[in-house]
Amino acid sequence: MALLLVPALTAPVDPASLLGYSPSNVVLDEDTVPVHGFAATQADVPNLDAPLSFTGVDNPQPIRGPKGGTIAGPHTTEYELLNPDVFAPPTTDHGAVPNAEWPLDLSPVKLGLDRAGWSRQQNTANLPGATAMAGIDMRLEPGAYRELHWHRANEWALVMNGSVRVSAVDTDGSNTIDDLNAGDVWFFPSGVPHSIQALSGGVEFMLIFDEGDFSEDATFLASELFATQPKEVLAHNFHVPISAFENIPSDALFIFPGTPAPSNISEQNVTSPAGFKTGNSSYTFHFSELPNTHEIAGGSSVKIIDPTIFPAASMFSAALVTIAPGAMREIHWHSSDEWNFFLRGQARITVYNSQGNAKTLDYNPGSVGYIPSDATHYIENTGNEPVVVLEVLQADHFSDVSVSQWLALTPHQIVQDTLSLSAETVDAFPVEKQYVVPAQ
Ligand code: MN
Ligand code: MN
Repeated sequence: MALLLVPALTAPVDPASLLGYSPSNVVLDEDTVPVHGFAATQADVPNLDAPLSFTGVDNPQPIRGPKGGTIAGPHTTEYELLNPDVFAPPTTDHGAVPNAEWPLDLSPVKLGLDRAGWSRQQNTANLPGATAMAGIDMRLEPGAYRELHWHRANEWALVMNGSVRVSAVDTDGSNTIDDLNAGDVWFFPSGVPHSIQALSGGVEFMLIFDEGDFSEDATFLASELFATQPKEVLAHNFHVPISAFENIPSDALFIFPGTPAPSNISEQNVTSPAGFKTGNSSYTFHFSELPNTHEIAGGSSVKIIDPTIFPAASMFSAALVTIAPGAMREIHWHSSDEWNFFLRGQARITVYNSQGNAKTLDYNPGSVGYIPSDATHYIENTGNEPVVVLEVLQADHFSDVSVSQWLALTPHQIVQDTLSLSAETVDAFPVEKQYVVPAQ
């Protein structure tokens, strides 16, 4: 096998003798790829563009049916195992589509103090097309704080595991405190200061912001606020002596260990003259206790949260979708960009973005996806376990256009003429939205 290695030279060589053609040049004409590896669906078979698996393939090759060729240069098989449709795209892919996938595993982790936790983020720095939303994955060890802060973007969050106590004070002085479990949701508007503390089991949550270039480094922090004010001003402002501020932190805390929160939340209540935020003004929603919106045969489901039930988050509409093995979130589009996050399982998406352009990408747990408005997409479960994916829109209610419902409810002759389909085929299209298509 020819390798890009320079053999040790045994005799001095005049570089001038290496310039251009010479009858004494030696050509090594040998096979550069001795072992070819193929997945079953790469060969010329009827389901050529079906999901690929390189599991058990020693030497994956960028080949789909009649297209592609072997790879002889450097490559890292681990990436190909995780992204088979990127390495050997379906022959139906065409042209250029803005990148729509970012694995959070490739985002540098920002480490908190004293082993209290960490965060990592996806924004336009790593996914340039994701202009309307950005995400931050944050872990807090038991009792740890994300320090008191505020920011310019609106924040919507899904608790992924553990439990957490959050609090906030609104512009009118009304306040809130609540405990949330895995599967619950909070929302803090831009400019509203809030606190987050892990309860005794620790917590990890996914934050979604409505600005694509949002950065965790650009939040306003209580510690920085105090460190940047003349102490004479602090004393005047809070009606206490200057000496009261001797021990304030000189640096940002960000994520740091805390005194464990009392398990009885009422011990931390602070009464505001403007009242407590309840009912439709609440900043928390116990989404884990809401039944699924749609149950689909075979174990798939869709659970929707949007401003019709959580009014404070007036432009955050989301669906938590479970796709059973063999099932597929149907082909559809939205009138908003979609930010999505894969909590479990393996999947692929094809984004069709007009002008004939389409691209297929693979998603693994911890992957962020981003679909431009009006671009069609499906989510196909390509693994052996359920896929759980969060779809987030900037919209006042959750909605989509189902391709099968659209065509089923259009005069059938038009559909038959346009797509050269038989009457029997078009008559079989379901008039009800499917959301998730069960395994065949
Ligand atoms: Mn925040
Ligand atoms: Mn969608």
